[in-house]
Amino acid sequence: MWGSRALRGIYSVAGELVDLAIPKTCGGCGADGVEWCADCERVLHDVPALIRPTVPVGVPVWTLGPYQGPRRSAVLELKERGRGGLAQPLGRAVAHAVLRLAEWGELDGARIALVPAPTTGRAARRRGGDVVTDVCECAARIAEPVARIRVCAALRSVVAEDSVGLGAADRLRNVAGSVRVFRPAALPPPGAAVVIVDDVVTTGATLRESVSVLSRAGVAVAAALTVAAA
Ligand SMILES: [Zn+2]
Repeated sequence: MWGSRALRGIYSVAGELVDLAIPKTCGGCGADGVEWCADCERVLHDVPALIRPTVPVGVPVWTLGPYQGPRRSAVLELKERGRGGLAQPLGRAVAHAVLRLAEWGELDGARIALVPAPTTGRAARRRGGDVVTDVCECAARIAEPVARIRVCAALRSVVAEDSVGLGAADRLRNVAGSVRVFRPAALPPPGAAVVIVDDVVTTGATLRESVSVLSRAGVAVAAALTVAAA
């Protein structure tokens, strides 16, 4: 009895600490008093749109919208300013989009596997974890009552950090051979409808490399889905 009360005490202290640490402004538009507002939620919950990145990816590439407004802010706040709580709204949007794609017949399989696009180990350590994997985990939890979604964080990038500022050809060169299966046990199970998930697609080079690495490992990819397209 006293044990559970003590536990509640610990949670409430932890809750207050978390409250103090999290800036109470919307991660999408900066509105005061909330971590994520209803307007930004509506923007993020758009239906996925099919896009054609400069580099052919080999599978349909879907995005929630252009890399601007709340989508851009949420990604930047999550990745660069460590606002881990924003993985929740982004996860909700990804879950919503994945379920839409399944509804449209784009994902054929008894279960759905989300493969987070690869990040470098260094970037993940700097950010205290891989944020795209966090978003996928949130999406899987949110979709749980209606769909079996497994997160398969099997890929890692060994490329020297970012390709920001590089053109399509340079990006392709930078990314070629840089994606590895670093956890074979985490590869999607046979028969799953596999979706590669990333925060932002720029040229499509990383997605293309991920599709081909998975294909060499015997995993067919059904689609790629990104929060935003730059
Ligand atoms: Zn907002």
